[in-house]
Amino acid sequence: MPRTKFSLAEADIPTHWYNIAADLPGPPLAPALNADTGKPLTRDEMAHTMPEPLIEQETGTDRTYEIPEQVRELYALWRPSPLFRARRLERALDTPARIYYKYEGVAPTGSHKPNTGIPQAYYNKLAGKTGLVTETGAGQWGSATALSASFFGMTAKIYMVKVSYRQKPYRRSLMETYGAVCVPSPSPETAVGRAVLADDPDSPGSLGIATSEALEAFARDPSLGYVLGSGANHVLLHQTVIGQEAVRQLELADDYPDIVVGCAGGGSNLAGLAFPFMGAMLRGGTPVRVIAAEPAACPTLTKGSVVYDYADTGRLGPLFRMHSLGHAFVPPAVHAGGLRAHGMAPLVSRAVEDGLIEPVAVGQVRCLEAGVTFARAEGVLPAPESTHAVRVAIDEAMRCREEGVSRAIVFGLSGHGHFDLAAYDSYFAGELNEAEADDETLERAAASIPQVAAV
Ligand SMILES: *Cc1c(COP(=O)(O)O)cnc(C)c1O
Repeated sequence: MPRTKFSLAEADIPTHWYNIAADLPGPPLAPALNADTGKPLTRDEMAHTMPEPLIEQETGTDRTYEIPEQVRELYALWRPSPLFRARRLERALDTPARIYYKYEGVAPTGSHKPNTGIPQAYYNKLAGKTGLVTETGAGQWGSATALSASFFGMTAKIYMVKVSYRQKPYRRSLMETYGAVCVPSPSPETAVGRAVLADDPDSPGSLGIATSEALEAFARDPSLGYVLGSGANHVLLHQTVIGQEAVRQLELADDYPDIVVGCAGGGSNLAGLAFPFMGAMLRGGTPVRVIAAEPAACPTLTKGSVVYDYADTGRLGPLFRMHSLGHAFVPPAVHAGGLRAHGMAPLVSRAVEDGLIEPVAVGQVRCLEAGVTFARAEGVLPAPESTHAVRVAIDEAMRCREEGVSRAIVFGLSGHGHFDLAAYDSYFAGELNEAEADDETLERAAASIPQVAAV
């Protein structure tokens, strides 16, 4: 029987995270800027929100950082995650392509996010913090934070965008099961929330507002640590356990990817899967084509420009050099996927600028269609975010069929969609459209990009 599942042993969980900054050709990554002074953010300034080891991982250029033993022990609850050869999908598509997927839905909360939630909780605990605070949109990051806090005996407070809080009550239930407090944002608990509510008592909230509330709660209480779900260099670093495992699993499969695909919201699961392969290429190894699959509703990489902009809509944080649609960008309301960030992780942006990652924008109807095809062939119901990677992997497999060539395609299945069935319901009811961001919306949002002299 040909193998379909490539599993590693517990001892094969990576011992180090991989830092691609050590291998990027050309100048070092542009630093984040203090928005008030326009000067690079200092370590002292970073220390307001980050414990020392995370600052080191955020700014350092060592090729590897050791994973603390306690973090590896917790990873072992679900890692190494499996890599599958999607043989039934290949047959359904009648393609000569070899399709593999790395499945992160085996994590307790159903996505890759605990890969970074756990180390961030660990370092904050080590720094003497007794609780964590953060914001969440669709609830994946909130769930990962709640889980990670509970593992370290810490409290967790999660400001969840109100419209998602109502639409996804079971994400809240999951967070509460782990002992977290989940607050619909805007809330009367913070000055930011009260101001928004005074203006519009029915405000559906936004990730920008929720971030501002979390940061205000954090600033008020020195016992709390503030944690980040995507975008930051150290978050991408933590996610490289995914790709390092995949490298070894493909050795078991006696294969090597021609193409690596990941969906890109803030960029962390894509980077986690692709960076170890890209690093091998940059050090003289086999070339690999890396594709970032982003939603046409939020086309950060394909329609944004590389600028200094705020990562948060509320303009409380620093400025990052990255692809951005403008921090005022709001994607179309009918969009089902959670990939709604106006800005991209600086490391992923840089790789796109350097021609190391190719971005593709895909519409949500075609994505959910691919999700259904995948579920019927392989059994796993992908998260709406992950269906973007499924779509592009299928498109590449169909191209192999047209061209009559067999390529190895590896894609990241970043999570399962068990909490996202409303998106599938809307798809089956024919209520979704491709939800492409229109030019007027893009132009208006681009006007919010601050004028910053090139550094
Ligand atoms: C959060 C999330 C994403 C998007 O975030 P990235 O940082 O781009 O990985 C993608 N897929 C799933 C399942 C998620 O929960």
